Amino acid sequence: MARVYNFSAGPSMLPESVLNRAAAELLDYDASGQSVMEMSHRSKVYEEIIFSAQKLFREVMAIPANYKVLFMQGGASLQFAGIPLNLMNGSNKADYVVSGQFSTKAFKEAQKYGDAKCVATSKEQNFSVIPALDPTSFTPDADYLHICHNNTIYGTKFAELPETGSVPLVADISSSFLSEPMDISKFGVLYGGAQKNVAPAGLTVVIVREDLLGNARKDTPDVMNWKSVADNDSMLNTPPCWSIYVCKLVLEWIQTLGGLDAMKEHNAHKCKLLYDYLDKSEMFSNPVDPKYRSMMNVTFVASNDDLNATFVKEAAAASFVNLKGHRSVGGMRASIYNAMPVEGVEALVQFMAEFERKYS
Ligand code: PMP
Repeated sequence: MARVYNFSAGPSMLPESVLNRAAAELLDYDASGQSVMEMSHRSKVYEEIIFSAQKLFREVMAIPANYKVLFMQGGASLQFAGIPLNLMNGSNKADYVVSGQFSTKAFKEAQKYGDAKCVATSKEQNFSVIPALDPTSFTPDADYLHICHNNTIYGTKFAELPETGSVPLVADISSSFLSEPMDISKFGVLYGGAQKNVAPAGLTVVIVREDLLGNARKDTPDVMNWKSVADNDSMLNTPPCWSIYVCKLVLEWIQTLGGLDAMKEHNAHKCKLLYDYLDKSEMFSNPVDPKYRSMMNVTFVASNDDLNATFVKEAAAASFVNLKGHRSVGGMRASIYNAMPVEGVEALVQFMAEFERKYS
């Protein structure tokens, strides 16, 4: 069996031990005589899976007792609407930091529901930085302030969180989920699609402070109403059963490795290998202000477009796949989520150095 090093931005690599365990249990989960894919979500055996996944989330992310963990569907994109539906219920105003393509989408979606304002953007810098924030420009009576914690396409991440006082901070953590410890108490809501660091596609996780539940707009669909989902233990309707099961295996894998502190160390080491090489390379470079560099998505360009195309092609032939940058920025991007082993990054750096020698 030949597995490649997969640098996809999502869906992306899962830990091999998790895939092996899922394969071993595929036909007969825990002597139930059924696959998890076939089980009733109302059965005892499945309830145990979903409740342990929620419990593990709490343990691994150190989620305080006054927060709910919701398993939903529709991706982070559906939550772009879910956030205003559930939270734009006071002043009907919300602030958005626009630091990339997904925060742009979130901002546009919110404008459908109320008075959403962009309080800072780095659009002019082609999103190569996180914009400077001036808290005096924030709306004092906003229902929330939204950020995208890690910008998957541009390879940037917030170095520090905005000070929002009593205004709840809402963060899209799709591409930084479970990559390092986070102080959950600084947030009103954290949310993200699972398909990068958490599980296969199909699961969307929302972590919400309890006092923010119960005031959704009247026209909110029930499956989008966080309170209804919370009151029904994320089983208001059929949950993404398989994805939640693999999420449980991924969380167990993280725990075995030493939790999020260990993940941070592992991820910081991997991205340093790449950034250090990029900073000394004469062919490749990374356009991001070092202060805002992402640990998960490392973008880079070669000295010209022909070299970019040749690099992506030769890298794929050498089993380094999905390195092409997002179509809106070009160049390359190596997404190095938790499951990417250090050897994968070491091998990539070595391949880049050889490519540089060959073409300079
Ligand atoms: N936010 C971020 C930061 C993302 O990277 C993505 C997807 N790549 C999305 C939102 C959209 O997520 P989904 O496809 O789960 O709707």
